[in-house]
Amino acid sequence: MYDIIIIGGGPAGLTSAVYACRAGKKTLVIEKNGFGGQIAWSPRVENFPTVISATGAELGDAILNQAMEQGAEVELEEVSEIVKNGGGFTVKCTGGAAFEGRAVIIAAGAKPRTLGLAREDELTGSGVCFCAVCDGAFYKGCDVAVNGGGNSALQDALLLSEKCSKVYLIHRRSGFRGEEKLVEALKAKDNVEFVMNASITALLGGSSLSGIEIEQNGEKKVLSVSGLFVAIGHAPDIKAFEGLIKLDEAGYADSGENCLTATEGVFVAGDCRRKTVRQVTTACADGATAALAACSYLN
Ligand code: NAP
Repeated sequence: MYDIIIIGGGPAGLTSAVYACRAGKKTLVIEKNGFGGQIAWSPRVENFPTVISATGAELGDAILNQAMEQGAEVELEEVSEIVKNGGGFTVKCTGGAAFEGRAVIIAAGAKPRTLGLAREDELTGSGVCFCAVCDGAFYKGCDVAVNGGGNSALQDALLLSEKCSKVYLIHRRSGFRGEEKLVEALKAKDNVEFVMNASITALLGGSSLSGIEIEQNGEKKVLSVSGLFVAIGHAPDIKAFEGLIKLDEAGYADSGENCLTATEGVFVAGDCRRKTVRQVTTACADGATAALAACSYLN
């Protein structure tokens, strides 16, 4: 029996683990893909205090090592269900494993949002990508497009500009939401073209992507690209826990700033929680808050 089971091995979950272990709680972190969460795919992080510059993967590894150093146990499993039983919880996994815990912290993060276009699923992996760090190298010397106006899209475009012949950065507004410093860095690149006030209306090609149709200022045109990197934000990944905790209309966990849910013994942290700022720093802050709340609940 664990004191605290944490679902999600990103910055929120791993910070929870550090705090829970330091409070003397027997702690398990369950992660379904790879430890580090979304940040693991970030080419460069320069806004995490004390870290001047690191890749997201380096930062993720460092938090994982810190949690394990403090005594956290880790499992690579996908959690399918959390069942309340008596004073605790059974956390069931798709592979058949089950773990018992007295309290649970849900820090399951978010998954990439899709454009909802016809053939998007079919062309994913054959031209349509959601991670420039993972797939950018496949498009060396090619013309590609990035869609989105946040830091992810700006960073993806910068990364791809180092490898690709041409990068179209397509955004639906006239200004970006991401950091000005990244926008300035992109403006200095000869092979990056901003395509503003534009939406992607169709994905073109046979078995792999050969172009995209866009609508810009009411006019349709085609851009010939072999890669499209969709970076339009993330959506929460906690639908499976809907029976246990209350989700808002967008699917985020309802909780106060104290990370408590309406279910005793269940806490939430990080990007899956309803809040306004989703950064690594705020995920870590949530992790600390949720862990300390879980510890006082157990004590
Ligand atoms: P984001 O900040 O939510 O930006 C998503 C962008 O996609 C917005 O520009 C949005 O447009 C656009 N968008 C949303 N839905 C769309 C649709 N259906 N079609 C076309 N465009 C659409 O997401 P993010 O860039 O993934 O970043 C998420 C959080 O992580 C942010 O807080 C960001 O600062 C942070 N982040 C930090 C780092 C870092 O510090 N190293 C790196 C990456 C991300 P609108 O502007 O019109 O809404």
